[in-house]
Parts: sequence; structure tokens; C-alpha cells
Amino acid sequence: MKKIVIAVMVCFAFLWNAPASTSASPLVYLTERISGQDRIETSISISQKGWTSAQTVILCEYADYPDSIAAAPFVSSLDAPILLTGGKTLDPRVISELQRLKPQKIILLGGTGCLTPSIEKEAERYTLSWERIGGSNRYETSVQLASKLTSDSLIIANGDNFPDALSAASYAGIQKIPMVLTSKTLPSSVAEYCKKTLPKHIIVIGGEQAVPTSSLSQLNLTIETRLGGQDRYETNAKVVSYMASSIEANDLFLASGLNFPDAIAGTVLAAKLKAPLLLTEKEDIPPAVYTKMREHMQVEPSAAIAKSGQGKITASGGLNLRDTPSASGKALLVIPQGTTVEITSQQGQWYQTTYQQKTGWISVNYVNITQTYKQGKVTAFGALNLRGNPSLTAEILTTIPQGAVIPITGEQNEWYKTIYQGTSGWVSKEFVSILSTDSTGTETIDLTPNGKVYVLGGSGVISENTQRIIEGKAVSKYQDNLRDFPSLPSSLDGPASTYDPAKEVLLDPFQGITANILKGKKILIDPGHGGPDSGAVGPSDTYEKNNNLAIALYLNDILTEAGAAVSMTRNTDISPAPAYSEAADLEARVTLANNTNPDLFISIHNNALSNSEVRGTATYYSDENPQVSNCAKLAEIMENTVVTTLNTDREGVKEADFYVLAATKMPSVLVEVGYISNPYEEARLQNPVFQKNAATAVFHGIIEYYGLAGK
Ligand SMILES: [Zn+2]
Repeated sequence: MKKIVIAVMVCFAFLWNAPASTSASPLVYLTERISGQDRIETSISISQKGWTSAQTVILCEYADYPDSIAAAPFVSSLDAPILLTGGKTLDPRVISELQRLKPQKIILLGGTGCLTPSIEKEAERYTLSWERIGGSNRYETSVQLASKLTSDSLIIANGDNFPDALSAASYAGIQKIPMVLTSKTLPSSVAEYCKKTLPKHIIVIGGEQAVPTSSLSQLNLTIETRLGGQDRYETNAKVVSYMASSIEANDLFLASGLNFPDAIAGTVLAAKLKAPLLLTEKEDIPPAVYTKMREHMQVEPSAAIAKSGQGKITASGGLNLRDTPSASGKALLVIPQGTTVEITSQQGQWYQTTYQQKTGWISVNYVNITQTYKQGKVTAFGALNLRGNPSLTAEILTTIPQGAVIPITGEQNEWYKTIYQGTSGWVSKEFVSILSTDSTGTETIDLTPNGKVYVLGGSGVISENTQRIIEGKAVSKYQDNLRDFPSLPSSLDGPASTYDPAKEVLLDPFQGITANILKGKKILIDPGHGGPDSGAVGPSDTYEKNNNLAIALYLNDILTEAGAAVSMTRNTDISPAPAYSEAADLEARVTLANNTNPDLFISIHNNALSNSEVRGTATYYSDENPQVSNCAKLAEIMENTVVTTLNTDREGVKEADFYVLAATKMPSVLVEVGYISNPYEEARLQNPVFQKNAATAVFHGIIEYYGLAGK
């Protein structure tokens, strides 16, 4: 077991500098950079990492990525390393590597334009036989490589740019699924290959722009799975999610999404180790990829959270001081922007503070920490006196119970200065033990279960800072990477909770609610997904689209009974788009909303993550919506009513520019009721009683939003 020591203070300092990030869970991995002076040496380093000898070695010209980009599945099937070399003569370093590997066969990848015939002569000196694979262009080469494998599946990626094919390379390599490259239109060599092989399962990498559906449907080829995101990193994340069941390693490979050569040779090593290959920017990890890395983690970094200190209120218009650490807590008063407050403790996303003699809780998101205090635990038997001055004869202001954790705001001789429940005073040092880890201590975290991140290439393609972000020593500049992730399970093999549907109690949506309370309100309900789009799929093969529709239909009944004018983007298992594509589906929902102009737009979804332990409710709104403040208000209320009514874990209110939230013109929210990927919540989401209660919770949220609660 390898242990490393992380100076908590270091994480600390960074976390405090990052706004609104106090409880972000940073990545924490060991890293190892595999690189060399240049890309040739990097390919040799990768070879040395993965192979002590090799039956076959692949040679590729170092600038000729188009020919090698689709090579991973075939090369993986041979368990061969890829070495890059100059095209006219073998690089001397490659020669030594060939002497080490002692291959029986060398495959020259690429035409004679890239690897000249003189290389063939040279190669003969280091092997018994050689073969050349190379078409007149990258598409033809990909077909030649694909033809060497037998499979009823086929991966199709755009070959005009490298990242999508790179994203798929590790998966294709592990599963030995041939991969062919295409362009806007299907090259004739690829079309012929498809006609000949008639693949049963077609997986397309990239969006509609990268590989248009029409280019395939012309040949009667049906796409079974499309893995495409907004950009190369989202696409990469989707591929990694899709391949989850193929991954056997704790380790990850990280390659540049902007600079390919270091990654090509690495794809084969990733496939050999059955590890995913992730893409990154040079200076930081894009959020989609960061999230994947976070999900892959199996140990939680120590919560580097200060529990006390001084902070400045940043909320314009001031910040509510609430009586409980919750958005639904009663607002006691408003603390003006710019005020410096003493933070005496923290619970989740809330700091405890005292202002104008009132002690309560403020949201961590609107406080800029300016100073942190060390903390002490009261060890006095029973209780400890808090005195007005640092003296045994001074007035006793109050007593602090044994075990209480107090901030140390100052010291004098044998006394610590502290604040307890809003009262400032002095306690004897003798009865306080300082909690070292919160200030200057170091802590050992066993990172073995997390595995290692192999960083492919030098700091010129993936910077030192990015490496430090992976190690949890630097903070990402992306706000999305700093959000409060659901915490990991405390035990890696904890008991799976079983769900008893009989214990779910049906609530009466109308209890205590006036008849026709929503008269005059126009509400559009949007059950997510539908038709060809199943949405997320649960571990027991249940479909998100069905849960969304069931909840939405119950909500429709309830709202109608409450006097509202209700419509739905779909009320059966269809996509609202006349011809389905993901974009057309979302567009149809938004168009309906903007044409009918309801008062509220409520989208119902289930959440999913590859970490099946994660559960809870999240509510989203978008900054892009013209009525953003109403959206935020509605989201806050909705999250509260759903969490409290259904007794789910609070994942919180989140801002995200989902199209249905950003492009609609009325207040809109998207409720992720629970995690279909969590077996317990999957079972709950299936239960009609739960579905109806979820509808009731949303109904109550709407009532509260309109200020009609209790009326
Ligand atoms: Zn969904």
C-alpha cells in the first residue's frame, strides 16, 4: 500500500481563494507522467511502461496521425506497442527499443509517402517479417485496419479531426471493435466496408455535425448508439460513461484533447490495462472530464473545510441570517453587503454567525473568507467557564459544554479567546485541546483505491498545474469543478439498502389547501425524454422516460384539480419532435413553451451517475433564462419541498444551461427527482405511491412559489 502525505494547509489555502467553493471535493489521485523529450521518446516511454517484449511492433511516422488514429482496436488485438519514428530513417532511439522488444513482426502503418521504402529495409534488420498497412487516405487505412478484425459491431468516428476517434480508442481497443473514419459524407471505401460486413451494432462517436445520421441512413445503416456531446470533452465523458462495464482498472489515462501524437501510443496501453482514456485541456480539466474523474474516485479527500474564521458578506442587497442551516430556515435579519462577520461553526453549506445579538446561519456561497481560526475542543469535565477577561476572577459569561468545538480567536498567557453562541470571552487553555488538522496538521490519505492517473506527454501538452489539480494540490478555474459533489460512500463495500415499497405512505396533495388554489395559472409540464430516447437506464433496466411520464401525469391530474390550466410536452411515450434527434426533441419542447407562453415550465427528470451509491434530489435553473431570478426562486423552493416531502438527500439547487431552461422565456426549472442509477432510488422511482408523492411535492412547491401556502 502506497501512502502519500498531503499537506492539508496547502489544499486549504487554495480552497479559500476559490470563491464559493468551500466544500468542493477536489480530485485526489496519484499521478505519473509518461513523456519524453519529444513525441518519439514519449511513444518509447509508453512502450517501456507496458511491454517487456512484444511479438509485433507497430511503426508510424510521427506526424502521420490520420493513419494511426483508428489503429487501436487492431493493434490491441495484437498486444503490440506503437512506436513513432521519422519517416525516412529509423530514429536511433526506436532502434534500441526494437532491440529491447525483439519483435517477430513489424507493421508499418501508413503509405510510402509517410514511411518510405527505405524504412522497410531498415526494419528487416530488427525483425523476421514486416507488413505495411496503409490506404491512399486515412479513411481507406481505417477500413484496412477494421477488415483485420471480425465483429458484429462497428464504431464510426469523424476522421477530419482526431479527438472523437481518440475518445473511442481505448473502448474500441478493449472490446476489439473495429473503428472506421468518416467525413461529412461517408467515404466510398467505408460505405463498401459497411455493405460487406453489415454490422449489427453501430456506435457513432460525436454529434450530428461530426457524423450526420443521414450519411448512414442513405445506406440503410441504423445507428444503435450515438455518443456525442457539445464538445470533444463532453463526447469523451460520454464515451467513458458508456464503456463503464469494460473498465477493470482503477487507473486512468489522460491525454491532450488538443495535441494528438502523445495520445496515440497511449490508447493501446490504456486498452491493454482496461483503463479509460480521458482528454483534457492543457491548463485545466474541463468539467465534463473532471466529473468523470471524480466519479471514478473511491476515496474521499479529507474535508479541507475551515469551521471558523472571519468572512465578508458578498451578497449584493445583503444576506439573510436564518434560524436553521437551511434555505427554508426563518430569516432573522439581513446582514448588509461588506459586513465582516465572525464564523463560529459550519454545517454543510451554512456558516454559523452572530449579528446584532442574533445567532443564526448564513449561506457559504455569499461569504468571502478573510481569516480562518484554529479550533479547540473543550476537555473540561462537564463544562468550561467562559469569562469576560483572561483571569480566574473575571465574570462568568456562560458555560461551554464538554466536547464542544470552539474557535480560537486570540490568546493571552494561559487563556484562549473564543466565541460561543454569539458571546465573546476567555477560556482556560488547560481545558482546551487544539484540533491540529484544521490548522497546521498533515494527514495521510491512502490513495491506492483511487488508482493512478497516467498523464501522457510533457508539460507542453498537459501542464504541471493540471497535474496538480488531479492530485488535489491546485484548484480548477472552472466553477463547475468546484461545486459540491455528493460525498462518496464511507465504506467501499457497504450494505446495499433494500427498499420496501409498502413503507411508502401516500400523501394527500390537497390536505389543508383551498379549492381552485391555482385558478388562472398556466403550467406546462415537461416529462424528460420519451420515445426513442429512454433517458437514463437503471441497474434493473428501468427507463427514466417512464418514471418522468408517470410523475408528470400525476402532476397533471393534481394541477388540473387545483384549477390550473395544464399542458404537457408529451403525455405518452413519444418524443415531441416530429423526427427524432436529441436537438429536435429539445427544440420541440422549447418551441411549445414559447408559443403557448405558460406561467411556469416544470421539467421532470431522474438523475444518473456511474457511481451507483449516489442518491438524492437536485433542482436546476439557468442563468440564461430571461427571468433568472424567478427561476432561482422557484428552484430553491422546489428543491426544498421535494426533499422534505419525499425525504430524499438534498443535492441542492444548481445552475446549468440546459436548453429547456435557457431557451424558454418563462420561469423554468428542472427537477431531478432521484437517482435511477442508485438501486434504492430506482426502486422508489418505480413505485406509483412515490411517483404520486413526487407530483404532490412539486404541486406544493408551485403553491409556495406563488405565496399561496397556508391560504
Ligand atoms: Zn433526464
